Amino acid sequence: MSTAKLVGIGLMGFAAAVFALHSMTAKGQPAPKKSEETVKPQYSKSGYDIAPLPKDRVAAWAAKLDPEAFNVTQDGGTERAFCGGLLANKESGVYTCVVCGLPLFSSEQKFESGTGWPSFFDKFDPDHVSEVIDRSMGMVRTEINCARCGAHLGHVFEDGPPPTGLRYCLNSAALKFAEKDKAPPPDRAPGKENAAVSATGKDAGKEQAVAYFAGGCFWGIEHYFQVGPGVIDAVSGYMQGHTENPDYKQVCSDSTGHAETVKVVYDPSKIKYRDLLVAFFKMHDPTQMNRQGPDYGSQYRSGIWYVNDEQRVEAEKYIKELESQKAFDGRKIVTQVEKAKTFYPAEEYHQDYIDKTGGVCHVANPW
Ligand SMILES: [Zn+2]
Repeated sequence: MSTAKLVGIGLMGFAAAVFALHSMTAKGQPAPKKSEETVKPQYSKSGYDIAPLPKDRVAAWAAKLDPEAFNVTQDGGTERAFCGGLLANKESGVYTCVVCGLPLFSSEQKFESGTGWPSFFDKFDPDHVSEVIDRSMGMVRTEINCARCGAHLGHVFEDGPPPTGLRYCLNSAALKFAEKDKAPPPDRAPGKENAAVSATGKDAGKEQAVAYFAGGCFWGIEHYFQVGPGVIDAVSGYMQGHTENPDYKQVCSDSTGHAETVKVVYDPSKIKYRDLLVAFFKMHDPTQMNRQGPDYGSQYRSGIWYVNDEQRVEAEKYIKELESQKAFDGRKIVTQVEKAKTFYPAEEYHQDYIDKTGGVCHVANPW
């Protein structure tokens, strides 16, 4: 089935609900209950409307579920281990909420835990899965729910694999699998895409400019650029390599030539390129060749990828200044200054990684 058809069905369902509502009032029935009023949309980072759904609407959808899915999602039940239909699924795509269709986990985050339940080490979007402490069955566990419809999904444990160390333990019955190109589309363009800017450095009509910095593992660099005054967006990705659309695994193999890079979209009326350079050199050690701290390999090299000649001149000038000041104890700065090639955003689970995981970060706050 095409995405268009899926959307069509979704819209038809919605239209039918609206029609039902209208015809009721038209017939002089009591006005709809407050919970059926239009809920103001709240968009997640990936662009889905996650405003909590009215209880009556959830109940109507839940009534159509099969008994197992109803028991799990509405009554907090648990399916028997090794029995769920999605346990062995290795297709690439998105796992959505069986009740409301919100994307919850991605095949890229799935792993074989051996527990008998589908397991993921991260969520599709941090805003899509909510957590509550569950004290039932004489244990203290963290229950996970769909943030939009409240469906019970499973639990999260702290014995998962890197990079998060978490294990989201799911009931297959709470999920519905959609192949990559058939996943429900976002309700509006995700924030990241809105902030995308052409590599010319400036976006016509808008006070936005872009700069690229590689300073080792991108998690911490992205985190601190993101909180800089005048920074609109910071995105983790891969750059300056010789293959197209690389993924994390390929980049980590140190064979594609890419460097972990942070794209910084900023408002030049509020922060200057030079301020970004200053922050960048505070955040990492530019005297380490092809490594940062514990991370080794050319993907962790220090680099400034300029998008125009102004940036190149400014970067080279600032590096000379640092060297003449004998910054970094007079050690040689090995930061590469190169013309920016194509930027490939990293997988979603790398974005806002520090915020998502609350992880500690060895990068210093430059602001
Ligand atoms: Zn849901």
